Amino acid sequence: MPIHEQSLIRPENIKSHEKLVLDGVDVSGHWSTFIAPRVVTDYNERLEEEIAALPGGEHIHRCWQCGSCTNSCTVNAVNPDFNPRYWIYLVRMGMESELLRDKEIIWQCVSCHKCTYACPRDVVPEGVMKATAHWLELKGHTPKSKSMHFDEEFSEQVFATGKIEEGRIIRGFFARTGQPLFQEWLVEMARRIARKFPIKLGLLMGIAALIRPRTRGWAKARDAISEYVEEQQAKQRDALGLVELASSELPGAATKRPRDRGDHGADDVR
Ligand code: SF4
Ligand code: SF4
Repeated sequence: MPIHEQSLIRPENIKSHEKLVLDGVDVSGHWSTFIAPRVVTDYNERLEEEIAALPGGEHIHRCWQCGSCTNSCTVNAVNPDFNPRYWIYLVRMGMESELLRDKEIIWQCVSCHKCTYACPRDVVPEGVMKATAHWLELKGHTPKSKSMHFDEEFSEQVFATGKIEEGRIIRGFFARTGQPLFQEWLVEMARRIARKFPIKLGLLMGIAALIRPRTRGWAKARDAISEYVEEQQAKQRDALGLVELASSELPGAATKRPRDRGDHGADDVR
């Protein structure tokens, strides 16, 4: 399916003549507008396979380009350049360089899943957006996104202890992304919650933040999960042609060796 949304035509490809008369007819200005043809020679014929090899991208081949995902998309409503249908089209066509032109906005998906519910083909466009953003990071086209930092922080905590503790996750996330712990919105939120919070629950949360709860007998499950994650990462590296990279250089690699993040407390918070 060709590009059919006006917003997708790159401004530099729109041409018009300020002054043009053809066969005695004045077609100056927008009357002589045309779209410069594009010649694409650098197809990545494996691009669809590469995205399909990453979590969330598995069903990209089902897309029939109806556009329901874009029509229902929360982000597209405020930024028409955010266009899941179009990116799925580019991936399936192998138009990697064209996709890379939008690399700065693909990560902006807010995971609302409206597209997932609208899609008649069960493509799970939200998953494809995540897989595409992950692909951009793995290939080194973009730095690790905040969303990826959060996922890693969350996963590492689950792998290490079999439980999560929200305060620790927020602290770890802020530390990874270089954000100060005391942010105006966070302080305000904590203040409002504290006003209505049951004291007992508050105490329990405070204790959990200090002693770091663990699931009993978690070691076996942790080892099994770590092994699975390692296997999946190896498969992904293989599919993306990144075998020469050490696994420790890949996003999420820290999940291979669940750290005891008991030392990742206030000292790490910038
Ligand atoms: S999940 Fe992402 S792509 Fe889907 S509708 Fe929401 S913002 Fe758009
Ligand atoms: S709604 Fe589904 S089938 Fe339609 S364009 Fe989006 S991903 Fe493709």
